[in-house]
Amino acid sequence: MSISSKAQATVIKRKVKPVIILASDQKLTNSITARYQKTLKYIEDWYHYWISKGRTTKSFSFSNILSVKSSLNSKHWVYLSDISAMGPNRFDLFYEAQKVLERNNYNNPNEIYLGMIYAGEFTENKLGAASARRCAIIPPQSKQECVEFSSNNSPQIPSLVADCVYAAAHELGHCFGLGHTCDDYKNDSQCGNSFMQQGRPPNMTMLTQEIDRLRAKSEWFY
Ligand SMILES: [Zn+2]
Repeated sequence: MSISSKAQATVIKRKVKPVIILASDQKLTNSITARYQKTLKYIEDWYHYWISKGRTTKSFSFSNILSVKSSLNSKHWVYLSDISAMGPNRFDLFYEAQKVLERNNYNNPNEIYLGMIYAGEFTENKLGAASARRCAIIPPQSKQECVEFSSNNSPQIPSLVADCVYAAAHELGHCFGLGHTCDDYKNDSQCGNSFMQQGRPPNMTMLTQEIDRLRAKSEWFY
């Protein structure tokens, strides 16, 4: 790598691409997009909060929300989510969602995608969040609205949307190269509260070691 391209890499502000994967029988409305937007803003602000703690490093942003139509209907997506609770089918929903992104050419190895499956309005969250390499997928979520992130990191947040924030932040964490906290930092008594373990907002944290590892990824954390 030449000096100039290295210097450039440290200032490029990389954006994660959020893509709503729409079930074939659903229509995307402004209010659905706005709800996702609020959740993404919370995730973005939460990452910024931890990454910039006492440092000058900033964190990735999300680009505008994209959307793609899938050929599977809502029932099928919910079925895939339900069977993800069974070991052998754990990643069926992920693979289907990843295929939809790839078919729409959202498979650039230099990008990170967050696929969000929309299959109707639910009063609960569905299962099946997963990630591999540059692709994170979250299953259909409840219609709970996300709150705004606050600078003291402790807004009251409805529990279902807290789970959704956790799922997306966690899967993206894998895309950024992190493993599970209590595997990687066994001796840290706080490992369980990390977003890469079981931490949920408003008590979801990031260990200093994780911050340092993310900061080393200069393209996304700059
Ligand atoms: Zn994980």
